[in-house]
Amino acid sequence: MPASHIKTVIWDLDNTLYKFTGDQIWAWNNAAANNAIKYIPSLSYDEAFAMANKGWLEHRHSSHFFHVDYDLCPHETHINIIKSMDEKIVIPCADTPNLFTTSPHRNVILTFATRDWALRVLEHSGLLEFFDDHDIFGAENYNFEDKAHSPRGIQMTLDTIGGNADEALFVEDTMPNLITAKKHTNIKTAYLHHGRDVNDNDRKYLDIVTKDTPELFKDWF
Ligand SMILES: [Mg+2]
Repeated sequence: MPASHIKTVIWDLDNTLYKFTGDQIWAWNNAAANNAIKYIPSLSYDEAFAMANKGWLEHRHSSHFFHVDYDLCPHETHINIIKSMDEKIVIPCADTPNLFTTSPHRNVILTFATRDWALRVLEHSGLLEFFDDHDIFGAENYNFEDKAHSPRGIQMTLDTIGGNADEALFVEDTMPNLITAKKHTNIKTAYLHHGRDVNDNDRKYLDIVTKDTPELFKDWF
C-alpha cells in the first residue's frame, strides 16, 4: 500500500499511542471492580475484580460482564470508570512526539474512552499539539457503540472529517475494531501487533501489519 496515498490517519489511543503495561491493565480492572461494587452489593471486591479481569481477557473490556450479567448502564459505567482513572499511569512513548513532528498527515483520535481521557492522555504524552481539538473523538461522540461490534465510530469520524475513506488509515491494536471498520467502509487499516500472532483469516482485513506506532512511522510514513 503506498503511504503517499494516505491523507488522514485515524488513531486509536490506548495501547496504540502508548503501550499498555500490566500495571495499567490492573488499574482499569481495579477501577471497573470498584465501580461495580458500588452498584452491585452482592459482589465482593475480589469477585468483581476477577470478573473485570475476565472481561478484559475475553473481550478487552473490563466492564463487559457487569453490563451483560448485571445490567449496569454501559454509558454511565464507562464515564465513571474513566473519571476515576489517573492519566499519569500512562507511560508515554518517548519516540512518538518526535515522529509526529515529521507527519505529513492530518491526525485524528478515535477512542472508545471518553474525549476527556483522550485530552488528558495526549497532554500527558506530549502529543496534544499534533491533534486539532475538533479531530479528537471519544465514545460519547458515537453513542458508546464499541468499535468491535459497531461501525458507528468510524463512520461518524469519516463523515465529520470529510474526505475519502480510502485516503484514510485507521490504526488500532484491537483486531475486531479494524475488521468491523473494514467490513463497513473502504478505509485502509493498520494493525499494531505488539508481538502477538496474527491469524491468517484476519489478514485480508489488514493493509498494514506492524509492531507498534514507532515502527509504523519508520516503515510506512
Ligand atoms: Mg487500543
